[in-house]
Amino acid sequence: MSASNESKGESTGKQPKILIPEIKLQARVAELALEIANDYQDREITAVCVLKGSFVFFTDIIRRLNLPLTTEFLGVSSYGNKMVSSGEVKVTLDINEPLENKHVLVFEDIVDTGLTLSYITNLLRTRKPASLRTCALLMKPESLKTQVEPDYLGFKIGNEFVVGYGIDHAGKHRGLPYVGYIEHDH
Ligand code: 5GP
Repeated sequence: MSASNESKGESTGKQPKILIPEIKLQARVAELALEIANDYQDREITAVCVLKGSFVFFTDIIRRLNLPLTTEFLGVSSYGNKMVSSGEVKVTLDINEPLENKHVLVFEDIVDTGLTLSYITNLLRTRKPASLRTCALLMKPESLKTQVEPDYLGFKIGNEFVVGYGIDHAGKHRGLPYVGYIEHDH
């Protein structure tokens, strides 16, 4: 195994297969950024990056957003090292800045059961923002357990367990430039 493969987290034995190639991701991120900028019409937004899985998506999209913005980071954890959601959401890093009267836009990597995004929006709503919207890169509509619909969505996918483009499995694969999938443990 070469050092560069190890640095991509490929030393776990499971090679992710490409689900969404880099070129398609970048094109969709650019489209989403245009859609968002068009909707907000120069209003300043507070862009919230949900850590850790959204950090690559977030840094790509905010650089394409032609809007005045500030950035905040919200750490949540729901999976631990497992491949199925525990359904339990823990805040690991909170936002300390007041969100009152701000136009808050939350960036999330994946909506699976929807429990995490629903937890986050309920939490942030208590901080009385002027508006609150959500943008997810990926969504698994067949897995939804609660009524959530991101205001902006990159791609609908099936039930595969995905990694790459910031998204990990047990801390690995975040550095892949594409969204890949790996098979479930049986
Ligand atoms: P939910 O609460 O909607 O079930 O799960 C949302 C969170 O679970 C996502 O932010 C993400 O961290 C994690 N997640 C959901 N599906 C996957 C997946 O296919 N792969 C990985 N690595 N994480 C996932």
